[in-house]
Amino acid sequence: MAKLKIVKHGDETLRKVCRPVDKITPRIITLLDDMIETMRAADGCGLAAPQVGVLRRIAVVEVEEGEVYELINPRIVAYAGEQQEQEGCLSIPGRWGITKRPKHVTVRAFNRKGEEYEVSGSDLLARAFCHEIDHLDGKLFIDCMIEELKE
Ligand code: ZN
Repeated sequence: MAKLKIVKHGDETLRKVCRPVDKITPRIITLLDDMIETMRAADGCGLAAPQVGVLRRIAVVEVEEGEVYELINPRIVAYAGEQQEQEGCLSIPGRWGITKRPKHVTVRAFNRKGEEYEVSGSDLLARAFCHEIDHLDGKLFIDCMIEELKE
């Protein structure tokens, strides 16, 4: 595994719409492993492929230690409620804000074996899913921030 460089806000890569994965190749598996290592090293709870310079619809989320969700071609299939909580981003260091997100979401995605699965999450996990899936469409949390928090 290798730690990857995280692309920072201002780089065009973060504003691009990512392409779906059509085949899970050994390169994709390596990318997933490297993204997990990079996320953990940066103490983040999620990381999307464009944040490491890869314009593919891939993200990883780990809100509870050891419980990693690998999201390939993820999409939100259901959402409910609302939450306004604090959010930040590994690509936008030093900035924090309150965003408005659904309280519960259900995501459908493929895992590294190419199996489609569905996962539901609430609160922080729901925020993480929304945040990472937004990255795949070139959207950042500062776009939906309703209040910026000062240090
Ligand atoms: Zn982010």
